Amino acid sequence: MSSRSIYLDNAATTAVDPRVIAEMNSCLGGDGDFGNPSSANHGYGRQASARVERARAEVAALVNAAPEQILFTSGATEANNLALLGVARFHRNRSRHIVTSRTEHPAVLDACRQLEREGCAVTYLKPRPSGIVEVEQVAAALRPDTLLVSLMHVNNEIGVINDIGALGRLCRASGVLFHVDAAQSAGKLPIDVRNDAIDLLSLTAHKLHGPKGIGALCIRREPRLGLVPLQFGGGQEHGLRSGTLPTHQIVGLGSAYRLARESMHVDIPRIAGLREQLWRALADIPGVELNGDPLRRVAGILNVTVDGVEGETLLLALADLAVSSGSACASLHAEPSYVLRALGRSDRLAQSSLRLSLGRFTTAGEVERAGSRIRAEIVRLRAGEPRSGALPDVCDDPRYNAEVRRRLHALPAWGDLPDAPSVAKGRAGEREQGTEVAFALRVERDRVTAARVQAFGCPHLLAAASWAAEAALGMDCGQLAAWDWLEAARVLDVPAAKFGRLLTLQDAIRAAARNWPGTTRSTV
Ligand SMILES: *Cc1c(COP(=O)(O)O)cnc(C)c1O
Repeated sequence: MSSRSIYLDNAATTAVDPRVIAEMNSCLGGDGDFGNPSSANHGYGRQASARVERARAEVAALVNAAPEQILFTSGATEANNLALLGVARFHRNRSRHIVTSRTEHPAVLDACRQLEREGCAVTYLKPRPSGIVEVEQVAAALRPDTLLVSLMHVNNEIGVINDIGALGRLCRASGVLFHVDAAQSAGKLPIDVRNDAIDLLSLTAHKLHGPKGIGALCIRREPRLGLVPLQFGGGQEHGLRSGTLPTHQIVGLGSAYRLARESMHVDIPRIAGLREQLWRALADIPGVELNGDPLRRVAGILNVTVDGVEGETLLLALADLAVSSGSACASLHAEPSYVLRALGRSDRLAQSSLRLSLGRFTTAGEVERAGSRIRAEIVRLRAGEPRSGALPDVCDDPRYNAEVRRRLHALPAWGDLPDAPSVAKGRAGEREQGTEVAFALRVERDRVTAARVQAFGCPHLLAAASWAAEAALGMDCGQLAAWDWLEAARVLDVPAAKFGRLLTLQDAIRAAARNWPGTTRSTV
């Protein structure tokens, strides 16, 4: 069961703290504060409203804002959209330029794309190789018509920290609005919207042990900042965000932020220590590199690139760890991590990266186990060794059928076939392209009597190579040359997007057929 894997994906979302759950529950049932906070004419409504306002004060306190600056949204995605679209549309009658970076969250990048369609000009800064956007870069990008700078505090993939204080002071001095996406930093780093001169700050609950579906936009009030709403209705939140306030969600956000404020001084050093422990366990493995600035980074995020191991296969081998990766196949995205690509990593290295993110509930024991598991799998996969045991039994990933999983640890390893004239060898593909296959077939009496394969690639390719090595047994040269990969695709349930990789496998087999030993009969 996947719930037994070690959870190291806290940058994607976190478990809700039980204390937060208890407070949320008290807003749901008939004897709780379930009323509509806008219903001012009875106690149910007034009590719900009091809970909402208490939560608003908690959120404000975490970032040194006044409660009236906090506007509740469904999360940081909506807060980012409201900040960017709301401000830019308010100023629709003048020419508008926006500065952001290429490594922002899609909620910022896609909102900027929309604004380009609406006539805005957008500069997408390329961060330094450290992943950080430096103040000088922003200063150089400002124009007389620049309206807004939008940059994240902490990057969600690599954890590096932008200097929002210095950026804020630059923007304030230049008369430019400053928006910060703080989804990954709230409660994990000090934020002071006043001192850091932040005009708009996006927040979310679920990255900080609060519930999903709730967040906030913190908006400068003095002087007032022009913003048009994205949705229309009952006029809640000063008309900027209509819709019945979800009391239990808002209380969950407030509670999570209060807990974070109370425990930051304990949690941050502890989590940073665990991250260092994890990095120490991996740092001396050849080909393992840290992504992002080694020092200016948030406590909970470690992102490493693993050279020489295919990303998707590494992830499957580590099915007992719940982690994220830059691998395109493993995530829903069609391309390897654009963040790592923007930092100058090749497609292949971006594919073979792991994001390990820790949270309040991560233990030293889990970090120790994770470190030794990752080390063991890297070493084993590089050596091309078959697994000694089964795949981690937590693997319940429906993308790999039972046959793929069985084959993955029964890969006939390279090595014990003599390099004699009776061996037919064939090779195809390119490691740099992500798929490489080599076959060695022992030929006796014009038939294949043993097959060895060495493959670099995704789990489906490795399983297909194993399947082909078995299928080749007993074949003669003609049968081998006519071998058809379609049957492997069917047996292993290979997604159509990967058929090209099976063609590489077929090429390797055909190359072996072409290298068929001419002296076969006499060698017997
Ligand atoms: C998670 C995240 C978001 C999106 O937040 P939601 O509350 O899930 O909409 C935006 N920006 C960053 C940097 C994030 O990590």
